[in-house]
Amino acid sequence: MSLTLSHPLGAVLGARTADSLARHLGLHTVGQLVRHLPRRYERYGQLTTIRHLPEGMDVSLVAEVVSADLVPMRRRAGHLLKVVVTDGEDRLPMTFFQGHRLRSRFAVGTRMLFSGRVERFRDQLQLTHPKWTPLQQEISEEEVERPIPVYPSVAAVEQVTIRKSVATVLGILGPVQDPLPEAVRGRLSLLELGEAFRTVHQPLTEAAGLHARERFVYEEAFVLQVALARRRFEATMFPATPRPVVPGGLLDAFDLALPFTLTQGQVQVCDQITEDLSRSHPMHRLLQGEVGSGKTVVALRAMLTVVDTGGQAALLAPTEVLAAQHFRSITALLGEIGQGGLLGGEKATRVVLLTGSMSTAARRRALLQIASGEAGIVVGTHALLQDKVTFADLSLVVVDEQHRFGVEQRDVLRDKGRQSPHLLVMTATPIPRTVAMTVFGDLETSVLVEVPAGRAEVATHVVDLATRPDWYQRIWARIREEVEAGHQAYVVCPRIDAEPAGPAGPTGRGRPAPLEDSDGSAEQLEALFDLTEPAPARALRAVHEVIEELATTPAVDGLRIEALHGRMPVEQRESVMQDFAAGRIDVLVATTVVEVGVDVPNATAMVVLDADRFGTSQLHQLRGRVGRGSAPGVCLLVTDAAEGTPARLRVEVVARVRDGFALARADLDLRREGDVLGAAQSGSRSSLRTLRVLRDEDMIIDARAEATELVRVDPGLTGHPALAEVLEELLDADREAYLDRA
Ligand code: ADP
Ligand code: MG
Repeated sequence: MSLTLSHPLGAVLGARTADSLARHLGLHTVGQLVRHLPRRYERYGQLTTIRHLPEGMDVSLVAEVVSADLVPMRRRAGHLLKVVVTDGEDRLPMTFFQGHRLRSRFAVGTRMLFSGRVERFRDQLQLTHPKWTPLQQEISEEEVERPIPVYPSVAAVEQVTIRKSVATVLGILGPVQDPLPEAVRGRLSLLELGEAFRTVHQPLTEAAGLHARERFVYEEAFVLQVALARRRFEATMFPATPRPVVPGGLLDAFDLALPFTLTQGQVQVCDQITEDLSRSHPMHRLLQGEVGSGKTVVALRAMLTVVDTGGQAALLAPTEVLAAQHFRSITALLGEIGQGGLLGGEKATRVVLLTGSMSTAARRRALLQIASGEAGIVVGTHALLQDKVTFADLSLVVVDEQHRFGVEQRDVLRDKGRQSPHLLVMTATPIPRTVAMTVFGDLETSVLVEVPAGRAEVATHVVDLATRPDWYQRIWARIREEVEAGHQAYVVCPRIDAEPAGPAGPTGRGRPAPLEDSDGSAEQLEALFDLTEPAPARALRAVHEVIEELATTPAVDGLRIEALHGRMPVEQRESVMQDFAAGRIDVLVATTVVEVGVDVPNATAMVVLDADRFGTSQLHQLRGRVGRGSAPGVCLLVTDAAEGTPARLRVEVVARVRDGFALARADLDLRREGDVLGAAQSGSRSSLRTLRVLRDEDMIIDARAEATELVRVDPGLTGHPALAEVLEELLDADREAYLDRA
């Protein structure tokens, strides 16, 4: 029989083994098993004799059991097994725990391979906790020195089970189709698939195993990029109504009235978008830009462009608070241009806010205006994409600060407009280039690097309470200074309420701060890098607690202090935000609700309590809330994490690095490599198996170029059946992940 990759494992392995591999490791087919790659390789060590045991070295030794005796332990229950072995010349004693369990395995005369580190104990060299494997036959030096694969596994499945299963399968596996084109393999000296399977699982040297692994890493990058390239290609197949600039329209009026000149970066990105919008297939663009780099103006110009041609634009924000804020700032920026239908002005459109918390009557009115086309610009949350909302002619969707806007949501969009709407996704969370290439690989990317001139600096300081607890009070004095200078301040806490008394309950202590009501974008980028830190010794600071504390703090006596968090009713949050924006509140004590998009230029101080509980990109976002006006800002990152701990390092990196992109990179470097793609794709394409976005940057860039070219020449992949098949599996896994969540 010639085994293929799609055969079920039950066809070749025993039912028990196949069942166990399926249940515990999710391995059902031959293909899945051979693609379950070793995590690393182990070596037994140089084969040696008892006489020449080299102290301090890892060695292997073939020897025969001379005696094995159970000896009761002196201080506790149980027995040790004292074993004496010989290599024919000399004898060596060894001791094992769990004597009773092991006794039967060490029958006199059994030949075994022992391996471990040689150490001296009471003047005698010995192997410490040696690993042992009974040997059926003679074993050659070469065999002993072969690297032994160590697989990702769980306790229920022994390494040896996986090794044996792989060996069985490889022994009868027929020829396999390679999804990597031969030309690519040749250029990069990557192994052909069948050979790579054998080498990665049963290498003669560790170097050979690692080289074989490279091939799988590249393949993963390549297949992913082909999937993304095809998405980009397909997007060009969808029809969209071209939305060229109409001279003398709202856009021109807007530009004339704009109180500032666009930065060069803004002009460039606007030109790109104008070009995209004038094509007959939908724009799919990601706009990255530092907090405050002026993305909203760029988006607004795009929206006016489509309104000028008779279309509608929708702006989606991650939360209702942000939607309302966008509505306000857009209405303000538009001035009379946004008063269409209200003043009866000729050169105007109507801007409509649609949120879940609106009264039924207001909502109905908004829905009507959206359906009739009277509303040129609609601002809301993702609820706008619901079935109930009908647009007259939705032609542009702008998504603000949102990573969760995955592939599926884009598909929903496509069905929403009469033709596919153009799409602009905006994010202030800097994404390293290769992450963008993988996570957002089906979008074209634009970056706004410069921040409008005249923007003030923000000085970031770490307030180290670990060594200077007395500095805590100085924070409030600093806030008072800002307020007396006519400015406002944020104080951000990781929690809303104080933790319940008593020992750490199930309150999520020891995990990152609960990111209630943040939009999830930064949160996701954090999750991506898998932050888990040891629990702090004391309770995390909470909004309500800090409010209480400040009520009796002399330094802030007389200041107007209010709370803002996600558990407040939306209207209340709204009114607090409005009061803050209008300067009727001096200090806002909040959770991460203020993380994204909140824009109050008069706020100059940002204090983050328990800063170590937040991830770097979150801290960066929070810092971005200040320094938005002309007055310099100050950001105090308050922590009692000890110097040198990972949590503290993270805080220090934020203080040191101002540039968001540099920070994102520094951050990736700091962390263990996480499951980047999985987390950021909101379940889509559940994981990257071997690929690491930073380590494998060159490969990803290479693979992207190869993939784009291949899809350009052969979009249907007719000349690459093996590749098409692998791709199909990937998409199936995607759909499954999607269904799992639904
Ligand atoms: P982002 O959404 O990228 O964080 P915004 O679009 O909210 O940034 O812009 C931040 C502030 O800067 C807003 O008050 C906006 O009006 C202002 N702004 C935008 N572009 C410019 C510019 N070219 N010159 C001066 N101010 C600008
Ligand atoms: Mg913004």
